[in-house]
Amino acid sequence: MKFLRSLSDRWPFIALSLATTAIVLWAGLIVRSVFEPQTAIQTNVSSSAGPSSTPLPSWIKTAPPLVAPLPQQSVPTLAPTATPTAPAAKSPPPKVQPSAISRNSLPQARYGHLPYAEHLPENLVSIGTYGQGSNQRTESLDKEAAAAFEQMVADAKASGVRIIPISGFRTITDQEKLFERQIKRQGSPEAASRLSAPAGYSEHHTGYALDVGDGNHPEKDLKFEFEETAAYKWMVDRAQTYGFELSFPNNNVQGVSFEPWHWRYVKSGRAAAIFSVAHALQGGSASGNAAMDDLQ
Ligand SMILES: [Zn+2]
Repeated sequence: MKFLRSLSDRWPFIALSLATTAIVLWAGLIVRSVFEPQTAIQTNVSSSAGPSSTPLPSWIKTAPPLVAPLPQQSVPTLAPTATPTAPAAKSPPPKVQPSAISRNSLPQARYGHLPYAEHLPENLVSIGTYGQGSNQRTESLDKEAAAAFEQMVADAKASGVRIIPISGFRTITDQEKLFERQIKRQGSPEAASRLSAPAGYSEHHTGYALDVGDGNHPEKDLKFEFEETAAYKWMVDRAQTYGFELSFPNNNVQGVSFEPWHWRYVKSGRAAAIFSVAHALQGGSASGNAAMDDLQ
């Protein structure tokens, strides 16, 4: 009884303390709801750094981004570096290369003639003889070009056209003598270069170029009149099929005199590589020659 009486006496105090506890708990909930979401949003914004649509998020929504942005960030960072680099590396070559070839290579030219390496003699094979008696000489070409030339000569012969080899492979030393002789005839290296190449700049020492004539018109050998022969006309129409093209057509970009007799073989990979710079230069030339037009 004593206990109950004291309890009833103390009831106001008990009620007051219970009310105080309730207020404190309630206040604590308010403080939590005000401050905790803000810290969560801050981490969300700073980690995602993206377009933050922040419709007062619940804590469940804001908590995962701490983990999620890591893969999100790592993917975009990897992708941009990979994607722009790939096209950047791919696209320049087709654009840059052709112009770079002509620009960088033209200064290497001498009087318009391009430099070439001398062919390895062991790959050369005979393509026939030219001249008579003591002046007769054997001409040769690289075996790939020689095979194509012989086939072309045989097919032309079947049509009644006689294509003959005048001059095939020539060493750089041979070319040096030839060019010196041409300088004496023409008066200057500049004038000589219109008709002949300086040593080291002739297509003849590649083993893939040759001068041809018409067997029925030897008087037109190495003359512009060769253009009027059946052999020349036949070659303009058909030589490309066998892999031959005119090196110096009319108004060629190299500024070399028109040489209807001088042809080069370009069908094999090696031959095409050797004459790739010349091809790049031809790309800008306006040639009326059918064989050249097809290469542009
Ligand atoms: Zn020639």
